[in-house]
Amino acid sequence: MSKGKKKTIKFKLLITLLIFALLGGGAFAFYMYTTPQITLEGSKEVTVTMKDGYREPGASASFSFHDISDHIKISSEVNDKKVGTYKVTYSVEYLEKTATATRTVNVIDKEPPEITLIDGDHITVQTASSFEDPGVTAVDDSDGDVTDKVESKGLVDLFNKGDYEIDYKVTDSYGNEASAVRTVTVKGDPAREVKGVIYLTFDDGPSTTVTPKILKTLEKYDVPATFFVIDYGSDPEKISIMKRALKDGCTIGLHGYSHDYSKIYTSTDDFMNNITTLHEKLKTDLDYDPFILRFPGGSSNTVSKDYCKGIMGQLTKLVQKENYYYSDWNVDSTDASGNNVPVKKLIESVEKNCDKDGYNIILMHDSDAKGTTAKALPKIIEWAQEEGYVFKAMTPGSPTVHHRVNN
Ligand code: ZN
Repeated sequence: MSKGKKKTIKFKLLITLLIFALLGGGAFAFYMYTTPQITLEGSKEVTVTMKDGYREPGASASFSFHDISDHIKISSEVNDKKVGTYKVTYSVEYLEKTATATRTVNVIDKEPPEITLIDGDHITVQTASSFEDPGVTAVDDSDGDVTDKVESKGLVDLFNKGDYEIDYKVTDSYGNEASAVRTVTVKGDPAREVKGVIYLTFDDGPSTTVTPKILKTLEKYDVPATFFVIDYGSDPEKISIMKRALKDGCTIGLHGYSHDYSKIYTSTDDFMNNITTLHEKLKTDLDYDPFILRFPGGSSNTVSKDYCKGIMGQLTKLVQKENYYYSDWNVDSTDASGNNVPVKKLIESVEKNCDKDGYNIILMHDSDAKGTTAKALPKIIEWAQEEGYVFKAMTPGSPTVHHRVNN
């Protein structure tokens, strides 16, 4: 072998070694710097409802170009029956190398509770009978039994036939609200169910001139009455007059903060705001919670047509849904026919129209211009007591009169 050939072989060997070294080094470097990769299907953070539940979307993994998805181990702490934030961990091990990825799962509650009406959604009762709401049960997927949290609204006036709605509402801890409605139909005619009772009612007061005279008479004959008051301008004298009425066993109803038809019959909201304003005021000033109202002009008024068509039909239903009884009258003293109507005329109207076989809700007024009403009152009471009538103040559940609605 020549010297030159030997050199060539040595050189080739060197090159070969170098190539192997490079390849080996490359492979080593490749191993050193390649890690398994995990790719989550779907988002890194997902939100699911308790109702829909959580379904694992999975993940894939690779090592360089190798699909090593079947090496993935999933460990999940998700409890989709309970609101919370959970982690799902994906881990993979390949050629003694590991990788992990996590997914955040928010489980939320979007389901409202379920309300069940005991005895169904429609109950029929006779007028002047008794009605006790059989109640409801309510269950929630998060909170369990939420029957205690159910609020109900709406009253049943057993002295007036018609359909009454009771609304039930309940909200779970996550703000999901459920509601249900029950209709109670009151049937029949109650006119003869309460006999020989008179409910004296005075509208438009209190007045510092007339109301004290009326209270004096009521006290003298030991007779209670009901006052449907309007705004009293925080007058301390008027407040003490009303306090005295309550102390004497009278009751107070709402007539209206304002009595101005053009302000109160423009919309149902305007009317309710007017009532609520007065209600809150009486609560503050008298520590008294009124339960009954009388519509200015009565529920049969037609003047409200000028401001809002059909409003009385809506209001008569609405106020009862808001837990107010309302009452018109079935005996008119006629003291609204003018200022200071003659005493004789007032007495005659009452005597003529009272009915011993039924209950009598007498309309009177105690504003400043009704001096003759205060004068007629002793005679009216004496006559009624001689006739054997009994006087009562209106209370929750006592008889009411509803006129026919004309607007
Ligand atoms: Zn009035």
